[in-house]
Amino acid sequence: MNEKQIMEWLREEDVKKLETLWQKANETRIAHVGDAVHLRGLIEISNICVRRCGYCGISADNRQIERYRMTEEEILECAHKAVGFGYGTVVMQAGEDYGVTRDWMVGIIRRIKAETPLAVTLSLGERPEEDLIAWRKAGADRYLIRFETSNRELYDRIHPPLGDHPSDRFEILQNLKKLGYEAGSGVMIGIPGQTYVDLACDILAFRKLDLDMIGVGPFIPHPETPLGQCLPEASANQVPNTEQMTYKVIALTRLVCPEANIPSTTALASLNKADGRELGLMRGANIVMPNLTPTQYRVMYEIYPNKACINETSEACASCLSMRILNIGRTVGSGQGGRLKRSSC
Ligand code: SAM
Repeated sequence: MNEKQIMEWLREEDVKKLETLWQKANETRIAHVGDAVHLRGLIEISNICVRRCGYCGISADNRQIERYRMTEEEILECAHKAVGFGYGTVVMQAGEDYGVTRDWMVGIIRRIKAETPLAVTLSLGERPEEDLIAWRKAGADRYLIRFETSNRELYDRIHPPLGDHPSDRFEILQNLKKLGYEAGSGVMIGIPGQTYVDLACDILAFRKLDLDMIGVGPFIPHPETPLGQCLPEASANQVPNTEQMTYKVIALTRLVCPEANIPSTTALASLNKADGRELGLMRGANIVMPNLTPTQYRVMYEIYPNKACINETSEACASCLSMRILNIGRTVGSGQGGRLKRSSC
């Protein structure tokens, strides 16, 4: 699929034609990754962040939220719960928090690998290479870092560099692959200033990067952030931050990268709490990320408002998501659910 074809689908509004897109994406998903939906238990280990991203509710500039960092024992308790719930992976995510030190994380990764059969995914921001090497050596399997948008000028506007160190998430992704991580990335959909051309280029960048995991979700304005103050301009080129646009991107991503692991994201579920997750799974996705974060911390990790599952317990998320998966005729995946093949996406 080339840029022009992707653009046509992104602009398509005809419901019948879109049905054919959903169907093609679903058939491709069945052929390449099957019916199993893999569960990745998400532990939001810290909301402390040194970055000032214009979109993010846990940006260092947001003085309205209380900050936390979970303890090692709390994290391990979540990992053991993940095993009990039948998950194959834990994803430890945080703001870019240098109080999450290299050695502290090494200890936690080692313990999870020694005490459980889980795959370990990290999503801890733009950390120095020495940290990434140490965590990989300790047993971390995967690393997630979204490039957010492939438009460099827009990226620089919404994601200011830290000091004089330029932010190059494409370079980080290449490095992660070199270090032997499964690499995951993705974008937000409908960032103010994001055009259809930008979004088509994002999807083509997924293919070029040969990503193992690709997470896409709508940009949801957070009132305590600079981008939360300005609603996307309703111009002909501006991508809308809608549920429908998110399904289009999930479906096109599946067609362009048939073997990738693609989550039906929490941001999508936040726009349509009734059946957003299911529709994502029926239009190309094969992963869900139930939240394992202790309830008292979840409310402090509100990267955007009205986030789905914010008041639920881990137990409630586990049974709710399994039920949703079975109700749409899919199976709950067993094992770690890593990328199946290594041919180019
Ligand atoms: N600090 C790590 C990083 O930057 O990769 C991980 C945490 S960060 C909060 C995880 C993701 O949340 C970001 O990559 C971004 O795409 C998403 N996010 C943040 N604010 C958002 C918003 N307002 N709407 C939608 N997604 C958002």
